[in-house]
Amino acid sequence: MYDAKIVTEVNRGIGLAIAQQIAAAHSHLNLRLYAASRAGSDLGIQPAHEGAQVLYPSLDISSKASIDALAKSIKDEHGRVDVLINNAGINVDAKYSPANAKLTLDVNYRGTLQMCETFLPLMPAHSRITNLSSVGSSLEHYSPAIAARFRDPNMTLADLAELADEYQHAVTTHTEVPTGWGGTGRSYSVSKACVNAFSAILARQRPDVLVNACCPGWVSTDMGRLVGRAPKRVEDGARIPLRLAFDDIGNVSGWYWANASIRSKELGRVMEW
Ligand code: NDP
Repeated sequence: MYDAKIVTEVNRGIGLAIAQQIAAAHSHLNLRLYAASRAGSDLGIQPAHEGAQVLYPSLDISSKASIDALAKSIKDEHGRVDVLINNAGINVDAKYSPANAKLTLDVNYRGTLQMCETFLPLMPAHSRITNLSSVGSSLEHYSPAIAARFRDPNMTLADLAELADEYQHAVTTHTEVPTGWGGTGRSYSVSKACVNAFSAILARQRPDVLVNACCPGWVSTDMGRLVGRAPKRVEDGARIPLRLAFDDIGNVSGWYWANASIRSKELGRVMEW
Protein backbone atom coordinates (compact mmCIF):
# COMPACT_ATOMS: atom_id res chain seq x y z
CA MET A 1 0.00 0.00 0.00
CA TYR A 2 1.41 3.38 -0.92
CA ASP A 3 1.13 6.35 1.46
CA ALA A 4 1.03 8.96 -1.26
CA LYS A 5 -0.03 8.79 -4.85
CA ILE A 6 0.91 11.72 -6.98
CA VAL A 7 0.06 12.48 -10.58
CA THR A 8 1.78 15.16 -12.63
CA GLU A 9 2.50 15.88 -16.31
CA VAL A 10 6.21 16.10 -16.94
CA ASN A 11 9.01 15.31 -19.38
CA ARG A 12 10.80 18.64 -19.71
CA GLY A 13 10.88 22.08 -18.18
CA ILE A 14 9.29 22.83 -14.82
CA GLY A 15 7.31 19.57 -14.79
CA LEU A 16 10.45 17.45 -14.92
CA ALA A 17 11.99 19.46 -12.06
CA ILE A 18 8.79 18.99 -10.05
CA ALA A 19 8.85 15.21 -10.54
CA GLN A 20 12.58 14.96 -9.76
CA GLN A 21 12.17 16.97 -6.57
CA ILE A 22 9.17 14.94 -5.44
CA ALA A 23 11.15 11.73 -5.90
CA ALA A 24 14.15 13.16 -4.07
CA ALA A 25 12.57 15.22 -1.31
CA HIS A 26 9.71 12.99 -0.28
CA SER A 27 11.79 9.91 0.37
CA HIS A 28 10.10 9.50 3.76
CA LEU A 29 6.86 8.75 1.96
CA ASN A 30 6.01 5.39 0.52
CA LEU A 31 5.49 7.11 -2.76
CA ARG A 32 3.90 6.19 -6.04
CA LEU A 33 4.57 8.93 -8.57
CA TYR A 34 2.84 8.95 -11.94
CA ALA A 35 5.23 11.05 -14.01
CA ALA A 36 2.97 11.27 -17.04
CA SER A 37 3.77 12.73 -20.43
CA ARG A 38 2.39 12.66 -23.95
CA ALA A 39 5.13 10.25 -25.04
CA GLY A 40 4.94 8.16 -21.87
CA SER A 41 8.77 8.22 -21.79
CA ASP A 42 10.89 6.70 -19.07
CA LEU A 43 12.58 9.81 -17.67
CA GLY A 44 15.01 7.93 -15.43
CA ILE A 45 13.81 9.62 -12.25
CA GLN A 46 15.46 7.92 -9.27
CA PRO A 47 13.36 7.87 -6.10
CA ALA A 48 15.40 8.30 -2.92
CA HIS A 49 13.35 5.67 -1.07
CA GLU A 50 13.58 2.08 -2.25
CA GLY A 51 9.90 1.55 -1.51
CA ALA A 52 8.94 4.39 -3.80
CA GLN A 53 7.87 3.81 -7.35
CA VAL A 54 7.90 6.10 -10.37
CA LEU A 55 5.66 5.22 -13.30
CA TYR A 56 5.60 6.83 -16.74
CA PRO A 57 2.09 6.64 -18.18
CA SER A 58 1.20 8.42 -21.39
CA LEU A 59 -1.23 11.30 -21.05
CA ASP A 60 -2.48 13.92 -23.47
CA ILE A 61 -4.55 16.39 -21.47
CA SER A 62 -6.31 17.62 -24.60
CA SER A 63 -7.87 14.16 -24.98
CA LYS A 64 -10.68 13.13 -22.63
CA ALA A 65 -10.09 9.49 -23.61
CA SER A 66 -6.43 9.74 -22.58
CA ILE A 67 -7.32 11.35 -19.22
CA ASP A 68 -10.05 8.76 -18.59
CA ALA A 69 -7.66 5.89 -19.40
CA LEU A 70 -5.09 7.07 -16.85
CA ALA A 71 -7.73 7.71 -14.19
CA LYS A 72 -9.23 4.26 -14.76
CA SER A 73 -5.89 2.48 -14.48
CA ILE A 74 -5.08 4.33 -11.24
CA LYS A 75 -8.53 3.65 -9.87
CA ASP A 76 -8.28 -0.04 -10.75
CA GLU A 77 -4.81 -0.36 -9.17
CA HIS A 78 -5.05 1.77 -6.06
CA GLY A 79 -8.21 3.83 -6.11
CA ARG A 80 -6.83 7.08 -4.73
CA VAL A 81 -4.79 10.15 -5.68
CA ASP A 82 -3.39 12.43 -2.96
CA VAL A 83 -1.71 15.11 -5.05
CA LEU A 84 -2.40 16.26 -8.60
CA ILE A 85 -0.05 18.82 -10.10
CA ASN A 86 -1.32 20.09 -13.45
CA ASN A 87 1.82 21.39 -15.10
CA ALA A 88 1.17 20.90 -18.83
CA GLY A 89 0.71 24.05 -20.87
CA ILE A 90 1.34 25.60 -24.26
CA ASN A 91 1.88 29.12 -25.55
CA VAL A 92 1.48 29.48 -29.32
CA ASP A 93 0.46 33.13 -29.36
CA ALA A 94 3.49 33.93 -31.54
CA LYS A 95 1.35 32.31 -34.26
CA TYR A 96 -1.91 33.84 -33.10
CA SER A 97 -4.95 32.61 -35.04
CA PRO A 98 -8.48 31.38 -34.27
CA ALA A 99 -7.24 27.78 -34.53
CA ASN A 100 -4.33 28.39 -32.16
CA ALA A 101 -6.52 30.31 -29.72
CA LYS A 102 -8.85 27.29 -29.60
CA LEU A 103 -5.88 24.93 -29.21
CA THR A 104 -4.54 27.01 -26.32
CA LEU A 105 -7.89 27.03 -24.53
CA ASP A 106 -8.35 23.31 -25.24
CA VAL A 107 -5.03 22.42 -23.56
CA ASN A 108 -4.47 25.04 -20.86
CA TYR A 109 -8.07 25.60 -19.78
CA ARG A 110 -10.33 22.73 -20.90
CA GLY A 111 -7.66 20.02 -20.61
CA THR A 112 -6.50 21.11 -17.17
CA LEU A 113 -10.10 21.42 -15.97
CA GLN A 114 -10.85 17.96 -17.37
CA MET A 115 -7.90 16.59 -15.38
CA CYS A 116 -9.30 18.13 -12.18
CA GLU A 117 -12.85 16.96 -12.79
CA THR A 118 -11.76 13.42 -13.67
CA PHE A 119 -9.36 12.98 -10.76
CA LEU A 120 -11.31 14.78 -8.02
CA PRO A 121 -13.62 11.78 -7.42
CA LEU A 122 -10.43 9.76 -6.68
CA MET A 123 -9.11 12.37 -4.25
CA PRO A 124 -9.91 11.97 -0.54
CA ALA A 125 -10.26 14.77 2.03
CA HIS A 126 -7.03 16.75 2.58
CA SER A 127 -5.68 15.91 -0.85
CA ARG A 128 -4.40 18.70 -3.07
CA ILE A 129 -4.50 20.03 -6.61
CA THR A 130 -1.95 22.57 -7.85
CA ASN A 131 -2.60 24.14 -11.25
CA LEU A 132 0.18 25.94 -13.11
CA SER A 133 -1.09 29.36 -14.10
CA SER A 134 0.92 32.45 -15.06
CA VAL A 135 1.42 36.12 -14.30
CA GLY A 136 -0.20 36.46 -17.74
CA SER A 137 -3.50 35.57 -16.08
CA SER A 138 -3.82 39.16 -14.86
CA LEU A 139 -7.22 40.68 -15.61
CA GLU A 140 -5.87 44.22 -15.97
CA HIS A 141 -5.95 44.05 -19.78
CA TYR A 142 -9.67 43.39 -20.06
CA SER A 143 -12.76 45.57 -19.72
CA PRO A 144 -14.14 46.05 -16.18
CA ALA A 145 -17.18 43.99 -17.20
CA ILE A 146 -15.08 40.99 -18.24
CA ALA A 147 -12.81 41.30 -15.19
CA ALA A 148 -15.88 41.39 -12.95
CA ARG A 149 -17.22 38.19 -14.51
CA PHE A 150 -13.91 36.40 -13.87
CA ARG A 151 -13.88 37.69 -10.28
CA ASP A 152 -17.53 36.87 -9.54
CA PRO A 153 -17.44 34.74 -6.35
CA ASN A 154 -20.61 32.98 -7.53
CA MET A 155 -19.26 32.07 -10.97
CA THR A 156 -20.04 28.53 -12.11
CA LEU A 157 -18.12 26.27 -14.48
CA ALA A 158 -20.90 26.87 -17.03
CA ASP A 159 -20.45 30.66 -16.69
CA LEU A 160 -16.72 30.22 -17.24
CA ALA A 161 -17.26 28.03 -20.31
CA GLU A 162 -19.51 30.75 -21.74
CA LEU A 163 -16.86 33.42 -21.11
CA ALA A 164 -14.17 31.32 -22.80
CA ASP A 165 -16.48 30.70 -25.77
CA GLU A 166 -17.09 34.44 -26.04
CA TYR A 167 -13.34 35.04 -26.16
CA GLN A 168 -12.92 32.40 -28.86
CA HIS A 169 -15.75 34.00 -30.85
CA ALA A 170 -14.04 37.41 -30.52
CA VAL A 171 -10.82 35.94 -31.92
CA THR A 172 -12.68 34.32 -34.82
CA THR A 173 -14.47 37.59 -35.67
CA HIS A 174 -11.41 39.80 -35.01
CA THR A 175 -13.36 41.75 -32.40
CA GLU A 176 -11.07 41.36 -29.35
CA VAL A 177 -10.80 45.13 -28.82
CA PRO A 178 -14.47 46.21 -29.08
CA THR A 179 -15.61 43.23 -27.00
CA GLY A 180 -13.27 44.11 -24.13
CA TRP A 181 -10.58 41.44 -24.51
CA GLY A 182 -7.84 44.04 -24.75
CA GLY A 183 -6.21 43.16 -28.05
CA THR A 184 -4.81 40.33 -30.10
CA GLY A 185 -2.35 37.64 -29.01
CA ARG A 186 -3.87 37.00 -25.59
CA SER A 187 -5.11 33.42 -25.80
CA TYR A 188 -2.42 32.15 -23.39
CA SER A 189 -3.33 34.91 -20.92
CA VAL A 190 -7.06 34.21 -21.20
CA SER A 191 -6.49 30.45 -20.78
CA LYS A 192 -4.56 31.08 -17.54
CA ALA A 193 -7.23 33.48 -16.23
CA CYS A 194 -9.62 30.55 -16.78
CA VAL A 195 -7.27 28.30 -14.75
CA ASN A 196 -7.40 30.73 -11.80
CA ALA A 197 -11.16 31.03 -12.11
CA PHE A 198 -11.91 27.29 -12.17
CA SER A 199 -9.44 26.66 -9.34
CA ALA A 200 -11.60 28.99 -7.21
CA ILE A 201 -14.82 27.31 -8.35
CA LEU A 202 -13.53 23.77 -7.67
CA ALA A 203 -12.26 24.87 -4.24
CA ARG A 204 -15.81 25.97 -3.40
CA GLN A 205 -17.25 22.73 -4.75
CA ARG A 206 -14.78 20.54 -2.79
CA PRO A 207 -13.98 22.38 0.45
CA ASP A 208 -12.21 19.27 1.79
CA VAL A 209 -9.52 19.46 -0.94
CA LEU A 210 -6.94 22.25 -1.37
CA VAL A 211 -7.13 23.54 -4.95
CA ASN A 212 -4.78 26.40 -5.86
CA ALA A 213 -3.23 27.99 -8.94
CA CYS A 214 0.20 29.59 -9.17
CA CYS A 215 2.72 31.37 -11.35
CA PRO A 216 6.15 29.72 -11.17
CA GLY A 217 7.89 32.97 -12.15
CA TRP A 218 9.90 33.51 -15.32
CA VAL A 219 11.71 30.22 -15.77
CA SER A 220 14.35 29.13 -18.27
CA THR A 221 12.44 26.48 -20.23
CA ASP A 222 11.39 26.14 -23.85
CA MET A 223 8.37 28.28 -22.99
CA GLY A 224 10.17 30.77 -20.76
CA ARG A 225 12.84 31.38 -23.39
CA LEU A 226 10.17 32.39 -25.92
CA VAL A 227 10.19 35.85 -24.34
CA GLY A 228 13.90 36.30 -23.61
CA ARG A 229 16.58 35.20 -21.20
CA ALA A 230 14.65 33.84 -18.25
CA PRO A 231 16.21 34.49 -14.83
CA LYS A 232 14.98 31.42 -12.92
CA ARG A 233 16.18 27.82 -13.15
CA VAL A 234 13.63 25.01 -13.38
CA GLU A 235 14.38 24.08 -9.76
CA ASP A 236 13.37 27.61 -8.73
CA GLY A 237 10.23 27.41 -10.86
CA ALA A 238 9.21 24.21 -9.09
CA ARG A 239 9.26 25.85 -5.65
CA ILE A 240 5.80 27.43 -5.50
CA PRO A 241 3.95 24.46 -7.09
CA LEU A 242 5.69 22.06 -4.70
CA ARG A 243 4.89 24.26 -1.71
CA LEU A 244 1.20 24.30 -2.66
CA ALA A 245 1.23 20.53 -3.11
CA PHE A 246 3.06 19.54 0.09
CA ASP A 247 3.80 22.31 2.59
CA ASP A 248 1.67 23.79 5.34
CA ILE A 249 -0.36 26.48 3.59
CA GLY A 250 -2.89 26.84 6.37
CA ASN A 251 -5.87 25.35 4.53
CA VAL A 252 -5.85 28.16 1.96
CA SER A 253 -7.75 27.02 -1.13
CA GLY A 254 -9.07 28.55 -4.34
CA TRP A 255 -6.43 31.24 -4.76
CA TYR A 256 -3.71 32.36 -7.15
CA TRP A 257 -0.20 32.33 -5.67
CA ALA A 258 2.86 34.12 -6.99
CA ASN A 259 5.80 36.31 -6.02
CA ALA A 260 5.67 40.08 -6.37
CA SER A 261 8.35 39.80 -9.10
CA ILE A 262 8.56 37.11 -11.77
CA ARG A 263 12.32 37.03 -11.05
CA SER A 264 11.87 36.34 -7.35
CA LYS A 265 12.81 32.90 -6.00
CA GLU A 266 10.58 33.25 -2.95
CA LEU A 267 7.89 30.72 -2.09
CA GLY A 268 4.90 32.76 -3.20
CA ARG A 269 1.85 34.25 -1.51
CA VAL A 270 -1.77 34.76 -2.40
CA MET A 271 -2.00 37.54 -4.99
CA GLU A 272 -4.68 39.46 -6.80
CA TRP A 273 -4.79 38.53 -10.51
P1 NDP B 1 7.58 23.78 -21.47
O1 NDP B 1 7.11 24.33 -22.77
O2 NDP B 1 9.03 23.67 -21.20
O3 NDP B 1 6.90 22.36 -21.19
C1 NDP B 1 5.53 22.20 -21.36
C2 NDP B 1 5.15 20.83 -20.89
O4 NDP B 1 3.75 20.66 -21.10
C3 NDP B 1 5.86 19.73 -21.64
O5 NDP B 1 6.17 18.68 -20.77
C4 NDP B 1 4.79 19.31 -22.65
O6 NDP B 1 4.93 18.01 -23.14
C5 NDP B 1 3.56 19.43 -21.79
N1 NDP B 1 2.35 19.43 -22.60
C6 NDP B 1 1.97 20.32 -23.53
N2 NDP B 1 0.79 19.97 -24.07
C7 NDP B 1 0.41 18.82 -23.45
C8 NDP B 1 -0.71 17.97 -23.56
N3 NDP B 1 -1.70 18.19 -24.42
N4 NDP B 1 -0.76 16.87 -22.75
C9 NDP B 1 0.22 16.61 -21.87
N5 NDP B 1 1.32 17.38 -21.73
C10 NDP B 1 1.41 18.46 -22.52
O7 NDP B 1 6.88 24.72 -20.37
P2 NDP B 1 7.28 25.11 -18.88
O8 NDP B 1 7.94 23.96 -18.21
O9 NDP B 1 7.95 26.41 -18.91
O10 NDP B 1 5.84 25.37 -18.29
C11 NDP B 1 5.19 24.52 -17.36
C12 NDP B 1 3.95 25.25 -16.89
O11 NDP B 1 4.33 26.49 -16.25
C13 NDP B 1 3.00 25.63 -18.02
O12 NDP B 1 1.67 25.44 -17.61
C14 NDP B 1 3.28 27.11 -18.25
O13 NDP B 1 2.17 27.79 -18.78
C15 NDP B 1 3.62 27.57 -16.83
N6 NDP B 1 4.43 28.79 -16.80
C16 NDP B 1 5.72 28.80 -17.24
C17 NDP B 1 6.48 29.96 -17.18
C18 NDP B 1 7.91 30.02 -17.60
O14 NDP B 1 8.54 31.10 -17.47
N7 NDP B 1 8.51 28.95 -18.10
C19 NDP B 1 5.91 31.23 -16.67
C20 NDP B 1 4.53 31.10 -16.24
C21 NDP B 1 3.84 29.92 -16.30
P3 NDP B 1 5.54 17.71 -24.62
O15 NDP B 1 7.03 17.67 -24.46
O16 NDP B 1 4.92 16.42 -25.00
O17 NDP B 1 5.12 18.85 -25.52
